[in-house]
Amino acid sequence: MNVKVFRTIEELRARLANVRRKVTIGCVPTMGALHAGHGALIDRARQECDFVIVTLFVNPIQFNLAADFDSYPRTFDDDAAFCEARGVDIIFAPADAEIYPEPTETFVEVPLLTNQLCGAHRPGHFRGVTTVVTKLFNIIQPNRAYFGEKDAQQLATIRRMVRDLNISITIVGVPTVREPDGLAVSSRNRLLTSAERARATILYKALEAAREAIEAGQSDPAKVKAAAAAVYATEPEVQVEYLEIVEDDTMQPVTEIKGQVRIATAASFGETRLIDNVIAGP
Ligand code: AMP
Repeated sequence: MNVKVFRTIEELRARLANVRRKVTIGCVPTMGALHAGHGALIDRARQECDFVIVTLFVNPIQFNLAADFDSYPRTFDDDAAFCEARGVDIIFAPADAEIYPEPTETFVEVPLLTNQLCGAHRPGHFRGVTTVVTKLFNIIQPNRAYFGEKDAQQLATIRRMVRDLNISITIVGVPTVREPDGLAVSSRNRLLTSAERARATILYKALEAAREAIEAGQSDPAKVKAAAAAVYATEPEVQVEYLEIVEDDTMQPVTEIKGQVRIATAASFGETRLIDNVIAGP
């Protein structure tokens, strides 16, 4: 018999990978307005892959507020130059109607990881992300896909989605790129006034206070959160949405800090909502 029989997914995939052309395709999904954070993802993809594709798509179905979708920065010419300078092979920048020729009836959802933190405050957001990422994965069929730890809940959700659905793509998480004062680089930072920009470092300061408490041996999440809240209280202009201590892989709040945890926060200045997180362990 020439025909080969495979009983396990792992062996099947190894054989199919061998049959396919031996080129590694790396995909970096973004919403454009590219900055140094995206740059870190692209550079990592460029190091690890033969062929790099960056997607620029402001995904309408992940915005729960129409005004937020409308005000999202769109800077195609700068983004194209940015990709060119970093050796990207392809930019995929579809129109909305290319991705959604008709309203999608099919959604991908990962409730366990998305009901809390940002998911609790942005109904439908993660469902929009997981659905569009699945569509992009099906369109591009990359070997590897690159996501920032800056969006830790998104990264954990996509890792879980890929496991649950047996999507044959290696998910690579890339550490958060920060401004010199600690503020996480974000497309939304350009929506801050200069006064707000100066104050926005408070997110990182609050996270650092929480991390220091954990590293000093504090195992009670309530006390760690109180340390962060004390820092936030020094900045009257900030509206804090949440600061939570969660397991990094499941995004579930911890009742006691025993090992590595993710400290995640969201806060707004005026209409501009910022998120950030750090990893910490005793
Ligand atoms: P966005 O265009 O904001 O949807 O982000 C596209 C990708 O870039 C996501 O995987 C983000 O997590 C990642 N990203 C955004 N900002 C940063 C940053 N400061 N450091 C690292 N990755 C980032």
